[in-house]
Amino acid sequence: MQKIIVTNDLKKEIFDITLKENISKYMLVCGKSIALLGIDDLLNDANFNHQIFSGVSPNPTTLIVEDAVRTYKNNKCDAILAIGGGSPIDVAKGVKDLLVLEKNVPKFIAVPTTAGSGAESTSVAVIYKDGVKMSVGGDILLPDYAILVPKFLMGLPKYQKKCTVFDALAQAIESLWSVSSTDKSKEYARKAIKLIVPHVMEYINENKHLEEISLGANYAGRAINISRTTAPHAMSYKLTTLYNLPHGHSVALSLPIVWEFMINNIEKCIDTRGVDYLKNIFQEIATLLGYQNIDEAIKYIHNLIKVFDLKAPNILPEELDALVNSVDVERLGNTPVAITKADLNELYKMISK
Ligand SMILES: [Zn+2]
Repeated sequence: MQKIIVTNDLKKEIFDITLKENISKYMLVCGKSIALLGIDDLLNDANFNHQIFSGVSPNPTTLIVEDAVRTYKNNKCDAILAIGGGSPIDVAKGVKDLLVLEKNVPKFIAVPTTAGSGAESTSVAVIYKDGVKMSVGGDILLPDYAILVPKFLMGLPKYQKKCTVFDALAQAIESLWSVSSTDKSKEYARKAIKLIVPHVMEYINENKHLEEISLGANYAGRAINISRTTAPHAMSYKLTTLYNLPHGHSVALSLPIVWEFMINNIEKCIDTRGVDYLKNIFQEIATLLGYQNIDEAIKYIHNLIKVFDLKAPNILPEELDALVNSVDVERLGNTPVAITKADLNELYKMISK
């Protein structure tokens, strides 16, 4: 079981865990943002025995993971502390994955610095090998501790806040309609939406409700750790690489279009719980978003994209095939309405400006 802690005193929390778990030396995995977070205090403390591994770039590769494993072993570390956005936490999961194979199981603490992916509470990571996306996964990769530090969100650029919070919202919504949803995943997803939606504008514009947004994103992560994501995520990865868009920006663009498609094609429902079940789920999502009917809820999402100024790329006709073929069929199987390649072609056209 993972322990989730919300605090603005990261140093105290780390020291409590160090004592409790009898940790002698950390490998600190981080990106460049670490200098901006005001954790020098922690780094300079004599009680924090650590080796920094900061060679983490976005979309980390297997080479970086192998490099980090060497750092871990050469410095005789016995715990991993990952602080950052998705990438340092993904690298840390990759490291643990390799160490576990050698029966060398480190304690693993994850501290997210954005409120979005929920990676601190999922047991999967995305690592690239020779430019190809690979997934690493398994219950053992779930961090032992997830420490949410709301004040970290204050320093984020506005665009990053918009993209990451949209990712969290999309993950909660997709989790609710996912074919693999369970009572538990739905409970987490509901909590996420209730924490995020009423506070999202004040979070973006005034840096308010940092704790609610941190927790909301974490609940969304816990929800997809059970249910996995669906078509909007599956469609997003190639948009990200082809047009150099942040993950949350790409996901936002496909979310309302996929929802509309599913409503117009609900008779092609593949969830064994049936069409009526799915209709009820769609209605529940609309209600959670604060609307009586589904059309209004979809309009709300379109409007949020507009207000956030998340612009669509201009998709060229010759790029459509690459986009359509990039979509992972397995992930589509987790989407409650059947989507063919011809459908994907139309959906991508609708995204294009
Ligand atoms: Zn996501």
